[in-house]
Parts: sequence; C-alpha cells; structure tokens
Amino acid sequence: QRQPVVIANWKMNGNRQLAKQMAEALREEAGLLSQVQVVVCPPAVLLPAWQQHVFYDAVHLGAQDVNEFEHGAHTGEHSLALLGEAGAEYILIGHSERRQHYGDTDARISAKVNAVLNYQAQQLKVVLCVGETEAERETHQTTTVVEAQLSAALEQVTAAQMTHVVIAYEPVWAIGTGKTASPAQAQEVHRFIRSWLQQKYAAADTVPLLYGGSVKADNAETLFAEQDIDGGLIGGASLEPDAFVAICRAA
Ligand code: 13P
Repeated sequence: QRQPVVIANWKMNGNRQLAKQMAEALREEAGLLSQVQVVVCPPAVLLPAWQQHVFYDAVHLGAQDVNEFEHGAHTGEHSLALLGEAGAEYILIGHSERRQHYGDTDARISAKVNAVLNYQAQQLKVVLCVGETEAERETHQTTTVVEAQLSAALEQVTAAQMTHVVIAYEPVWAIGTGKTASPAQAQEVHRFIRSWLQQKYAAADTVPLLYGGSVKADNAETLFAEQDIDGGLIGGASLEPDAFVAICRAA
C-alpha cells in the first residue's frame, strides 16, 4: 500500500557536477523510479541545477530546512515560496543537526511544520525528523523522547494534513557515525511511531516512516525489509551515485 520512499540529504555537500552525475545515474533507473519515490535534498542553491536535470524525470526535489515566516527581514534564510519555485516538493524539518546546532526548538519546528502544511500556493510535504541521543537511549528514554518530539511538532496538525507528512526516525548516535541501528532496534521504534500515529490520527497505514543513520548499500536491504520501515533518509551514502542507486533498489 505505502510506496517506498528514499530521500537523499546532501547536507552541506555536493556541487553542480555531482548533481549532474547523480541525475545521470538515476536517469538509467526509470523502472526503479516508478516504484520508489526518490527525493533529493541538495543545498538550496543547487536546486535550480537539479531542476534542470530532473525536469522530465521522476526524481523529486526537497529542501533541507525552511524559515517559518513568509518573507521579510530574515538574513540568510529561505522562504517556502522560494524553495517551491526552485522545485522543492518536500521540506525536511527538525533534523537533529538543526536541533543541536542551529536553534531549532520544538516550538520553532512546530511553526515550520505548520507553515509548510498551511502554505496555499503549492502543496508541499513535510519530512519530520525525530530521534534520541545515545545518552537518552542508554537511559531508556527513546520512546519518551520520540513521542515528545512528535507531539510537539505535530501539535496543530490535523488528520487530513497528515497525508502530507513523512516521518524519519534518525537516532542521533547513528548519524554519520557508521553505527547503524540494527534492523530490530529501528523496527521497534518505527512500530512505536506507527501505533502513536494510529492512536492520534488513525493514520497508521498512510504515513511513510523512514529510517536514517548510517544507511549504506550493504545494510539497506535488511533495514527496509522490516515491516514498519518504508524507506530511508540517507546522508553520506547519498553523495555516491552507485551507493545511492543501490539503496534505492533495496527499498
Ligand atoms: P548518514 O547517512 O551520513 O548517517 O546521515 C543520516 C542523516 O542525517 C540523513 O538526514
């Protein structure tokens, strides 16, 4: 029922040349792209380059963050209107790097989620990132932390709007560390998120739940085989065309 989704988060990496290489690698995969929703989130200034390459292709674009305000005196920020115009259909919100280093509090994350879902000019999707730190996992607070992040971010979101939400579970200790959550560990949290979504929105079957954190070509298949893992949010491996295509194939 749920289509698999694989999202590349380039973070502050890549350039025009890599955009071209990656788009060419994906272009060879027409069959795959009809089955898996593939989304690339490059740095925002690369969106126009990507837009050129994927215009006729079934690759979707996304942004790594957005400002919660419509426009105005927000030096260095990007508005939804600009990101949408540059081709973004998905907006990552609440990535742990933004929570840890760039002041994205629960309140700000909730404001960003609402801004995207209430944006009238275009129907955009939110990819909400949640996940616990290593210390929180060690002290058995994983589900408490994840639940608090979900409730805060989605506080004002209606059941109807949930059809435009994707959730990515990214344990902070697994991001960029090479320490992947085991399929069973990831599945346990995904199951928890699924039942939370069911209770709160009766939306268990429709919201894609992605795992992120050191997903590589050689571990993607076992992770994606878990019942409640619908795909992945890929950092480092999304910068290598062969690896990224292999991960998409595993979904
Ligand atoms: P890595 O795949 O590099 O661990 O990054 C995961 C991530 O943060 C994607 O958003």
